[in-house]
Amino acid sequence: MLLTDKAQPEPIGEAERLMTICNACRYCEGFCAVFPAMERRRFFAEGDLTYLANLCHGCQGCYHVCQYAPPHEFDVNVPQTFSRARAESYERFAWPGFLAKAFHRNGLILSLLTALGLALVIGLTFGLQNPDVIFGSHSGEGAFYRVIPYEAMVWPFGLVFLFAIAAMIVGGVRYWRATSGAVHGKLSPGAVLGGVWDTLTLKNLGGGGGGCTYPDETFSYARRTYHHFTFYGFMLCFAATSVATVYDHVFGWIAPYGYLSLPVVLGTLGGIGLLVGPAGLLALKMRAEPAPQARELVGMDVALLVLLFLISLTGLVLLVFRETSAMGLLLIVHLGFVLALFVTLPYSKMVHGVYRLLALIQDAAERRAE
Ligand code: SF4
Ligand code: SF4
Repeated sequence: MLLTDKAQPEPIGEAERLMTICNACRYCEGFCAVFPAMERRRFFAEGDLTYLANLCHGCQGCYHVCQYAPPHEFDVNVPQTFSRARAESYERFAWPGFLAKAFHRNGLILSLLTALGLALVIGLTFGLQNPDVIFGSHSGEGAFYRVIPYEAMVWPFGLVFLFAIAAMIVGGVRYWRATSGAVHGKLSPGAVLGGVWDTLTLKNLGGGGGGCTYPDETFSYARRTYHHFTFYGFMLCFAATSVATVYDHVFGWIAPYGYLSLPVVLGTLGGIGLLVGPAGLLALKMRAEPAPQARELVGMDVALLVLLFLISLTGLVLLVFRETSAMGLLLIVHLGFVLALFVTLPYSKMVHGVYRLLALIQDAAERRAE
């Protein structure tokens, strides 16, 4: 178990111990989907515990109310243990396996790859392009491609992105095979839709009503709100890129597009979401009580939030200054951050989205089968 300190118990074994205690106590059954799912089981196989860990949204609610939390001798700390078990599952199911070690020191690796991505895009552009072109003013159709040629921009980014998506799909399939035994033959379109809906609404960060106790013991919807900004901001940026691809390949309309065009409007709204969301989540994380967190995993969360924030910031600054001589350098820096995100996508906290979605689909299927 690579992600645990030597002093820490192995996460799956510890999760089994905690679920046995919680299944006798059941005080937290109204908090989230985890406890009802736990109550559907009398024994906990490794796949069940991995599923429960990925169903947990880390809201800390059960820690704050638990009469057996430290310093009680039972030492019940469900959010921390499930956080470690989730991270262990990201590593176990990652593809290709030799890259799974990237989760081990994820914050550091993400930072190094970000620097490498930046250096690569900057180095290649300066190697291929005359500095007068990079630092010149360009406007109108094809302005971006005068700084970084179309093929140099589209092919590397497209191939890296496709590899990242393939790696995440393989990881998701491996996870599903290992955890979904309880719903074998019980999956229905309604269950899938139910799981997707719970994912899109983050229902489980509602804490059973009134929000969750994060970052402190006060009930609040702050985490759900900032997560929505982040998730929907990311999806709007993805939609902007998809629409721009259709404009380019289907209609032959070459970027950059007007400020009121669909890709720019979607990208601007998404960019604002990706500024507000990660900044808010970072601020909450800084204030969050440390005891229910897995200290060694904070770097993984922070690294991704900072990277998303920087991608958005550089994208919006590029939009504002795209018709000035700063455009070339801003474009290079923005694409360097984007490349770093694509490369690390399957080996970063981003994978939690895939596993959480699958866990919520399984939860919906189990509830329907009751
Ligand atoms: S977390 Fe604590 S209070 Fe909640 S069900 Fe488990 S043992 Fe009971
Ligand atoms: S931390 Fe929150 S989501 Fe996770 S088990 Fe506890 S109450 Fe449920």
